[in-house]
Amino acid sequence: MSAAACIFCKIIKGEIPSFKLFESSSVFAFLDIQPLSVGHALVVPKHHGAKLTDIPDDQLKDILPVVKKIAAASGAENWNCLQNNGRLAHQEVDHVHFHMIPKPNETEGLGIGWPAQKSDMDKLKQLHEQLKSKM
Ligand code: AMP
Ligand code: ZN
Repeated sequence: MSAAACIFCKIIKGEIPSFKLFESSSVFAFLDIQPLSVGHALVVPKHHGAKLTDIPDDQLKDILPVVKKIAAASGAENWNCLQNNGRLAHQEVDHVHFHMIPKPNETEGLGIGWPAQKSDMDKLKQLHEQLKSKM
């Protein structure tokens, strides 16, 4: 999807309204319109890109401090920072965004499935070598 058609680029440009929480030269933050809990917010790089791997490093370095700032302002004691990449991974909007989602109780906030698999040390060792060789 092009930046011109992107809903978050339109929010950043002010063409679509948002409940803006923060703006700098590289970062924009606003309330999520369909929150999982009170205080659910989105922090986005102004640089358009669908996945984290599409965003230059210098456009990402100020993102987490803003997530921190909003989490602190929300007063949440428990919260999740979530960043989805790709449809299978539950990404709906193809402009990188970090969710800050307060977790006030069992029912509100992010629900997480965690299908942990048995560890196989030989396979982990092999994977470790493979990944290190590509980094
Ligand atoms: P994801 O599933 O990670 O792509 O999350 C996309 C998020 O964007 C969802 O939580 C939506 O509620 C939120 N969202 C979509 N459109 C808007 C909008 N116009 N203003 C604020 N949040 C939005
Ligand atoms: Zn965009």
